[in-house]
Amino acid sequence: MPGKRSLKLYEEARQLFPGGVNSPVRAAVKPYPFYVERGEGPYIFTVDGEKLIDYVLAYGPLILGHRHPRVKAAVEEQLEKGWLYGAPYEPEIELAKKILWYYMPGGMIRFVNSGTEATMLAIRLARGYTRRKYIVKFEGCYHGAHDYVLVGAGSAAAEYGIPASEGVPEEVARLTLIAKYNDIDTVEKIMKKHGDQVAAIIVEPVVGNAGLILPRDGFLRELRRIADEHGALLIFDEVITGFRLGLRGAQEYFGVKADIVTLGKIVGGGFPVGAVAARREIMEMVTPVGKVFNAGTFNAHPVTMIAGLETIRVLEETNPYPAMREAAKRIADTLLDAAGRNGFDVTVNHIESMVQVFFKPGGVWSYDDAKQSNRKLYDKLHEILLRKGVFIPPSQMETWFLSAVHTREVIDDTLSAIEDAFRELRGA
Ligand code: PMP
Repeated sequence: MPGKRSLKLYEEARQLFPGGVNSPVRAAVKPYPFYVERGEGPYIFTVDGEKLIDYVLAYGPLILGHRHPRVKAAVEEQLEKGWLYGAPYEPEIELAKKILWYYMPGGMIRFVNSGTEATMLAIRLARGYTRRKYIVKFEGCYHGAHDYVLVGAGSAAAEYGIPASEGVPEEVARLTLIAKYNDIDTVEKIMKKHGDQVAAIIVEPVVGNAGLILPRDGFLRELRRIADEHGALLIFDEVITGFRLGLRGAQEYFGVKADIVTLGKIVGGGFPVGAVAARREIMEMVTPVGKVFNAGTFNAHPVTMIAGLETIRVLEETNPYPAMREAAKRIADTLLDAAGRNGFDVTVNHIESMVQVFFKPGGVWSYDDAKQSNRKLYDKLHEILLRKGVFIPPSQMETWFLSAVHTREVIDDTLSAIEDAFRELRGA
């Protein structure tokens, strides 16, 4: 439960920032957001003296937990050499080689500063390459905060009921055609009508922004087939799934190749990052070789490159994936059991180190399903768990993340908090 010091800061912040925050979901923590003092391993320490087990992990990047000693050491060493040059720097080559090896062998990459910038460039690139104007995206998928994708959007856009943002001209919004996730017929229908004008189909291979939704068997393969049939490109937005489903992300996990992959979060080791990887002939359309424009003062930021490199090295050397998968499964099983025993018929989705619970029986396979969850109960669960020292996403439209340092002991503490929370929820 956020305390007095957080309340005081929040009241001041509300005079300075819309909603008191700099990214909307941060305001969803009720009754008001806690302020952070520091992070350490799986924990966040608040200015009110609370210690919280963190299942938000900055919405995905912190796969090694907070303040990982190796990432910290690498960043400190970098700071000794300065932190921004506006000129090429060797570590960007190393990080590029690593990412391309896993995600786009033989391809090329451009580093940018956020997932938003990555999908913006990926879409511009697809349009430039195909000389077509439409894109197909899926309801409830979130690809960042720019105009091309703020139509039928998930994450905070869904949380606050504005899947189509004001301020995006209708002429722009019209170029984004909305299909339903896990429903190939809706894609076929759009492609039948507009297929020869569709530059790309963009998808979160696993949806992490409408709660957590897994692709049905064959769904992604069908997207690949339909894209090919109509000469459109397939963009996998792996900003969440990249290095989260495994070192090779969703393409390997589901056995489907994309033409363009967007990355972010983990590849910056907790520093601002985005990346676009694509086949060479597509990527060579980007400036300064081609005429699809991209530039950035902070692109391939030295500190980000170093932090991303060290994070990936640790993942390679320690392979925390099996243990994280097992821990997530224990959480999922306990959520299902504890809910059932207390009379709540829930759906729990989980894959690798991601979990989400929906207060809706019978499965969640689409944004429509996710919306049917009893959000009041989810919010209440969030509030109770927070009081018990467990920080889960404050919105049903987000996903719980685990890290490599969520040890067995930390998970055990979480499981008992979950058991208690559902008992309390029943009594509420
Ligand atoms: N794509 C996906 C799949 C995301 O989850 C997000 C952010 N949660 C973005 C893009 C945007 O990334 P950023 O917040 O770094 O702009």
